[in-house]
Amino acid sequence: MVGRFAPSPTGDLHLGNLRTALIAAVSARAGDGVFLLRDEDLDFVTSSPDWAQRQHEDLAAMSIRWSDEVVRQSERFALYRAAISTLEATGVVYPCFCSRREIRAEIEAATRAPHSPLPLGAYPGTCRELSVEDRAARMAEGRQPAFRLRTDGEEYEIRDRVAGVYVGAVDDVVLARADGVPAYNLAVVVDDALQGVTEVVRGDDLLSSTPRQVHLQRLLGYETPEYAHIPLVCSPSGSRLAKRDGAVTLRDLYERGVSAVEVRDALARSFGCDPAGTSTDPIGEWATNWSWSQLPTTPVDIADLGLPV
Ligand code: GLU
Repeated sequence: MVGRFAPSPTGDLHLGNLRTALIAAVSARAGDGVFLLRDEDLDFVTSSPDWAQRQHEDLAAMSIRWSDEVVRQSERFALYRAAISTLEATGVVYPCFCSRREIRAEIEAATRAPHSPLPLGAYPGTCRELSVEDRAARMAEGRQPAFRLRTDGEEYEIRDRVAGVYVGAVDDVVLARADGVPAYNLAVVVDDALQGVTEVVRGDDLLSSTPRQVHLQRLLGYETPEYAHIPLVCSPSGSRLAKRDGAVTLRDLYERGVSAVEVRDALARSFGCDPAGTSTDPIGEWATNWSWSQLPTTPVDIADLGLPV
């Protein structure tokens, strides 16, 4: 068994991220497995090594330990490009010249079935059938294309350890952006496969992207890992955590005089584990009796964590 946590180093981890990381680490240990950490720093505008360093420190402060060197996506572009070439060789990759604005306008204009199985914001397929001449004309205008995967709305059933059965369709997902940077869905699939990951534990905001990833795994001949999508920690109003919700990071809480152990134990309580206090191996302790059924399947209100947020 190989588990992993794969944050994007674009800021400090908030309590929801730390909680997900703890659950991932406990589950990997419960399966007697290896636990890996991966920096998803594909986007060099929003990511930085400083954020990565701070994230590693915060995870270590949660008593999370990882095996091997941290893998950095920014150093693996050749692997992602090789995967795109493999897909290209089977004729399922096409250039897309649409800007975000054009895609939005297209989606709004299209009369869509009320219960479309496609994920929210699915690409409407504008550039799919461009002729060789159309492509050449756009290139001549100096437009750099992104590359997309040609799909047929294939549906996948995901059996998630937390969310249960989830059915979703795939769309023509981006494989590489117009600036040449490989896309998240492609990179995550390549890395999970090459790192031998067998269990993906992450926030449930990514559940709707999972069918896309399973589809890419099929096309690339990779195994599909087990999935566990963790409900987010949310603000009292039920929305995604934001700075304005108060002390949402470990460092915010340090400023309020709360220790890392207190935060860690409060998070552990929220997924059914007893406080471990000064134990030298809390993850191991929690892993001893770990069962996915102890995890609440609904979002956790930050105000209910028992922390001075
Ligand atoms: N890097 C993604 C994030 O920070 C998580 C990707 C994943 O776990 O698959 O939201």
